[in-house]
Amino acid sequence: MFAKGVAAGLALAIALPPAHAQTARRASLPVVRDAEIEGLVKDYSQPLLRAAGLSPARVEIVLVNDLAFNAFVAGRRIFINTGTILESETPNETIGVLAHEIGHLAGGHQERLRDQIERAKTIAVVAGLLGAGVAAAGAASGSGSVAGLGGGLMTSGGNIAQRGLFAYQRTEETTADRSALTYLLKTQQSPKGLLDSFAGLMRKNMLSGVSSDRYVTSHPAPQDRIGFLQTAAKESPYFDKKDPPALQLRHDLARAKIAAYNGGAGQVRRTFGRNLNSLPARYGDAIATHLAGSPRAALAKIDALIAESPGTPWFHEVRGEILMAAGRSDEAAAAFAKAAKLDPTKSGILEAAVGQALVTGGKPERMKDAIAQIRRGLERDPGNSTAYQFLAMAYGKTGDIGAAELATAEGYWEGGNFRQAKVFAARAQQKFRPNSPQWRQAQDIITTKVNRK
Ligand SMILES: [Zn+2]
Repeated sequence: MFAKGVAAGLALAIALPPAHAQTARRASLPVVRDAEIEGLVKDYSQPLLRAAGLSPARVEIVLVNDLAFNAFVAGRRIFINTGTILESETPNETIGVLAHEIGHLAGGHQERLRDQIERAKTIAVVAGLLGAGVAAAGAASGSGSVAGLGGGLMTSGGNIAQRGLFAYQRTEETTADRSALTYLLKTQQSPKGLLDSFAGLMRKNMLSGVSSDRYVTSHPAPQDRIGFLQTAAKESPYFDKKDPPALQLRHDLARAKIAAYNGGAGQVRRTFGRNLNSLPARYGDAIATHLAGSPRAALAKIDALIAESPGTPWFHEVRGEILMAAGRSDEAAAAFAKAAKLDPTKSGILEAAVGQALVTGGKPERMKDAIAQIRRGLERDPGNSTAYQFLAMAYGKTGDIGAAELATAEGYWEGGNFRQAKVFAARAQQKFRPNSPQWRQAQDIITTKVNRK
């Protein structure tokens, strides 16, 4: 899908496309939802989380569509920039970064921040973690007024907040490194990626002479820390262990998608320069062709990939996207259904996509099916705010305005826009019989105190 999305319960002003991020006047976090990449990062994280004694079900992974190398934890969420995956040539490099972040998570290193995030519940605060220091400073000083955090945030000096509040302490860095090494050992994975990622970042940072890299700024890595990592990593019996080829392929397919979405065919070529005939490079090229607005050429390219590897769910998903763009919604729904069937992670995003395509097709007789499909997707993934919009459209087409308004209210609620959620819930409620299940659902949204969420 690679659809912009929201981190449930966090968003107010959110999800500007990356191309416009620099001109953003408000702090924003471009969260993306994509079944393929989410599934991959989950597969990277889950063994590490278990090794850390954490329950994977209780930790949420949030993808941030930003090409800068960054990852961080906040509360029970792991945020990872797509740029971190793109820059990692092997799964093991991303896995190393995740292991380190999970080390911070397990160590409770940001407990003091968590309180503030829980209290403020706004994306502005989370954006502060990414370097919009003023928002962070405002929250920290207790002003907490989101409305007051107006324009110009992104450009104001964020260093104070980063150094003071958001940077981990050096002892915490060492602890996170040690924890990461333990998790990697327990899961029989190489610590080489961890070492390569951090050493690489440090080198780049020293060469450029300025501490411009947010990841480096928030994760202080003095030379002695790299030294420790180097020594400790090489003691691992798995140091020279390579990623399984199937995982490397999935990793490269994800990188191809990220490259295509963030820089088109040019970025795909820069990523896979040496081998443009590889499956990932051609996948990226097919997506870039689709995004450039050439559905016929894109379809031919993705069909060739499907012929070669019919069991790859993401090829069918991209085929669905292309067909949607070409106005062939019924075929798109079938392609998404195929992808959903093949998807080992059973992502709710794909399930919902089937229904979304049917809604776009607009045939009244398909709406019941569309509603059922979207509901199925939402059961798996209640945070999919785009799906609620389509659900509301589907109800609208069947003439059930109350249900359409209730679905809109749910979508706003999941997106963190509680005020609009209550407005639509109140409207919907007037159309239901008092104490009917839908009436009560609307009542819940109307009466729930936002702080509880
Ligand atoms: Zn760190």
